[in-house]
Amino acid sequence: MEQRVAPGATDDGTDVRRHIPRTDAVLRDPRLLRAADRLGAERVKSAVHRAQQRAREGAVPPEAVADTAVALLPGSAGGLRPVLNATGVVLHTNLGRAPLSAAARQAVADAAGPTDVELDLNTGVRARRGRTALAALRAAVPAADAVHVVNNGAAALVLAATALAAGREIVVGRGEMVEIGDGFRLPDLLVSTGARLREVGTTNRTTAADYADAVGPDTAFVLKVHPSNFRITGFTRAAHITELADLGVPVVVDIGSGLLTRHPLLPEEPDAHSQLTAGAALVTASGDKLLGGPQCGLLLGREDLIRALSRHPLARALRVDKLTLAALEATLNGPATPTAEALAAEPAELNRRAERLAALLRADGVDVRAVPSGATVGGGGAPGVILPSAALSLPEHYAAALRTGPVPVAGRLEAGRCLLDLRAVPEEDDGRLTDAVRSVEGRWAP
Ligand SMILES: *Cc1c(COP(=O)(O)O)cnc(C)c1O
Repeated sequence: MEQRVAPGATDDGTDVRRHIPRTDAVLRDPRLLRAADRLGAERVKSAVHRAQQRAREGAVPPEAVADTAVALLPGSAGGLRPVLNATGVVLHTNLGRAPLSAAARQAVADAAGPTDVELDLNTGVRARRGRTALAALRAAVPAADAVHVVNNGAAALVLAATALAAGREIVVGRGEMVEIGDGFRLPDLLVSTGARLREVGTTNRTTAADYADAVGPDTAFVLKVHPSNFRITGFTRAAHITELADLGVPVVVDIGSGLLTRHPLLPEEPDAHSQLTAGAALVTASGDKLLGGPQCGLLLGREDLIRALSRHPLARALRVDKLTLAALEATLNGPATPTAEALAAEPAELNRRAERLAALLRADGVDVRAVPSGATVGGGGAPGVILPSAALSLPEHYAAALRTGPVPVAGRLEAGRCLLDLRAVPEEDDGRLTDAVRSVEGRWAP
């Protein structure tokens, strides 16, 4: 029981300060010993000092110093907390886009210590950095003669523009001069490399002839960008890769989402294989969108172009770390990613889950019902595509409480209700989700 005592006052005639336990005694609490392994001794000691200070001020009773110190300590040394993504946005940029598969998480853990990322263990000599991950990527897209991996999709474009077009021209359609998000504009990025942009066509219509007229001796490449976060409909036209492939300059295609091959549910989303077989010389993409892997930028295509990029001095500044290489390889070689599973989830099954969870929570007195919902791909992919889904509908005040609870849950607000969409919540997290909901009104104590 919390018992409030006025600062420095006495409750039973003795100074409360005399009852405050000594630091070394508090530090012997097993919970704090375990926390020291996790967070370091200094951090734990400082939490104990703060807890003792609270006791001195009378905010907590002296016997609660250890409990208070435990409560002041975070669960891990890192500041990022795991969040359940119940937003209905499969690739939520603010939630770190694609969640890694269990296989990729294991690969990251295995590579965290010293690892053979750049050493051939058979011969004992230096080997190509990340060779197994690059081989896996190459095998996943046989239409690419060569591949390279950099820090993210933007870095892939910067490297291509710098290595292939600095001081020269990139021909790009006006309808493809896109802003990705958070003020990040592709044309600004390209111009920052020293390349010049030669815009062709209009916002809604660009033809192969527009490109052909613009290509000249100073053209380094034609760039096609997938407008991944908006759609223009109506009187529109865009040139197809096949129409641009024989203009005498490479066609570079930024597909954005990182689909390596066609996805049956996302027929309009470009994929690396189709673009390369249609004549693209180079494809750039992100690793943490529809591919479902770690943040990285993929470059796939012609051997001479990949060689030029990977040997450019800038490549060293954009290279990925061993953890990314490990996660990418496991994403490519391992079982279906959480992203693939979220996309493939059957609406009827999501509905059954929602009904079951709602019934469990209603039995505990929660004002909840299962409702149909519309999920999206998000993260710059498949704009306009609605994936039928199911959600738990809760009173609006649940949104903030769930976000700030012991197991943070991100939902979305719709028509005065807090919706928890199940499409991007793996089924094995259903128990954590219902526990989080119960904890909001103290129906379950973490
Ligand atoms: C997302 C996206 C990018 C940027 O990729 P990052 O991995 O976020 O750097 C570039 N182009 C397109 C078309 C995109 O969709």
